[in-house]
Amino acid sequence: MGQDHAKRVFRERARSSTDRMVVSEAAYPGSIPGGRTFVVGWRHTRTLRGVFNLPVQCHSIMTDFSTAELQRYSRHLAMPEFGLKSQQALKSARVLCIGVGGLGSPVTMYLAAAGIGCLGLVDADVVEVSNLQRQILFSEDDVGRSKLEAAKERLFGINPYLEVRCYAERFTAANAMSLAADYDLIIDGTDNFPTRYLSNDVAVWLKKPNIYGSILRFEGQVSVFAPHLGGPCYRCMSPQPPKPGLVPSCAEGGVLGVLPGLIGTMQALEAIKVITGIGQPLVGKLLHVDTLGLRFRTFNLRRDPDCPVCGEKPTIHEPIDYDGFCGITEVPKVPSVSVQELHTVRQLGSPHFLLDVREPEEYAVASIEGATLIPLGELSARSAEIPQNVPVYVHCKLGGRSAKAVALLQNLGFAHVTNVSGGIAAWSESVDAGVPRY
Ligand SMILES: [Zn+2]
Repeated sequence: MGQDHAKRVFRERARSSTDRMVVSEAAYPGSIPGGRTFVVGWRHTRTLRGVFNLPVQCHSIMTDFSTAELQRYSRHLAMPEFGLKSQQALKSARVLCIGVGGLGSPVTMYLAAAGIGCLGLVDADVVEVSNLQRQILFSEDDVGRSKLEAAKERLFGINPYLEVRCYAERFTAANAMSLAADYDLIIDGTDNFPTRYLSNDVAVWLKKPNIYGSILRFEGQVSVFAPHLGGPCYRCMSPQPPKPGLVPSCAEGGVLGVLPGLIGTMQALEAIKVITGIGQPLVGKLLHVDTLGLRFRTFNLRRDPDCPVCGEKPTIHEPIDYDGFCGITEVPKVPSVSVQELHTVRQLGSPHFLLDVREPEEYAVASIEGATLIPLGELSARSAEIPQNVPVYVHCKLGGRSAKAVALLQNLGFAHVTNVSGGIAAWSESVDAGVPRY
């Protein structure tokens, strides 16, 4: 009896049976490359030999898989190196994905498709048009919806056997330990340094692998941080965060749309390897990807014995003030107006100077008519270009950088400087819809 015939028998029997299945690893010497495959039978079947008339050597494994699931994962099960054991490991695994954005999209979609049992999703954001260039979980119709709500729907569409747990909140020092405790593995899909250090520290303390990915412009990195498996942690590689403003976020510096697809897919791959024990995960190694030259380079990472979290004498044992550690201070309290108030000033024709402190690339995408561009980083050196005899209104994208600019100008002696709350994003939303949002 050939393999095709055996498969037909499986299908026919599966259709007529409502019983759960017994799945067996079996030997088919010479029948398929590798000499191993799996066969399915029924719990009350005494022997598979009689059913299939094959030289079957059965080691029956009771599993939770239904016939439909076995069909779904058949390409996994066809690989002798993977097999039912690995598929069962995926089904039993619980993975926490911090951030459901550029990285979280391919991570969660591939893990869902591969058969992960439970995905925890942490994200408090709403889908924006500017997300769609790379966050492939979402479609046009999702704009304005909660990311978690849209993601859950999409992931169930990929695999209805998945359990999805949604945490519509930020991953913070207050909730990180309790959120992560329920999971086997953490995926770092964050886009900021405080959350990256927090997820690292929590993973070290809870002895859970932390699948790290980061992206900016045209380059990305991947690693598996797992001191409990003998590798270093993120702090061993980067003991100190970069100075605030030195490394822009993707929102400020931009990111090539395909890049998170590449890096996130590799994070999903590493997660599957760690869970199933197949291959060599990137423990103790950092993969750097340069998309412009399409260069993939791997660096060895060493564990730092003096690391304050995973070292020989750790000094940090619980979550700290990560914003403070990363030098992120609160937006300074400065005089401010709403976009409507600025609009009124402009309509009345009152003398004023409108200053835009964003980057030239942002200015090229969207600008408010009549605004003068001086990026925040150049403001000290170019303050002489700003008049002192009229009120100065300062805007950026959302109001954060412009608040810093107002504080800086006040320190330089400017008396009438005011922040525009909500920046050009609020202007676009409330005053002039013709100004593109980005
Ligand atoms: Zn460390």
